[in-house]
Amino acid sequence: MKIKISDAVICKFTYVAAALGEEVFSFEDLKWFTEVERRKSLHFEKETLPLSLLGFVKAFTDRDLIVIRARMDETLTQLATLHEMAHLLLDHPPAPTQTYEEWVQGGRKHEELDIKRTHNNEDMCRENDAEALATLLYECISRQEASLPEVAKDIYGWKN
Ligand SMILES: [Zn+2]
Repeated sequence: MKIKISDAVICKFTYVAAALGEEVFSFEDLKWFTEVERRKSLHFEKETLPLSLLGFVKAFTDRDLIVIRARMDETLTQLATLHEMAHLLLDHPPAPTQTYEEWVQGGRKHEELDIKRTHNNEDMCRENDAEALATLLYECISRQEASLPEVAKDIYGWKN
């Protein structure tokens, strides 16, 4: 199965890779870069989530938050986290209207779940872009024997 990769994703990935020193970087580097780009601290939490959801991301006025399903193994947790970080790097979350504390006080409502279930075209494009960017980032973090050009060949639409 090939992932379709858009110009927005190629552009963002090239930018991230250049800023972080080309083709290999750590998860910590990427977290730091995301915080600098978003001008906000990035926090991670784990929570029991509906089965259809591995994680979600939410922007607040005072921080970004990635919530990942609790009790998943390390690899799945990292993949889900990278997918949500890709949403942040691609600037997908709606502009925040509340602080993290206000959200907690209001009962931590997940309107993101409803967005996922509606599956309109814009959501599909965003999900595809986040998945493609996360895949490329994961390859940089977990680099083993495959080189980036080899990986890119497997991703539909990559033109170099
Ligand atoms: Zn997503």
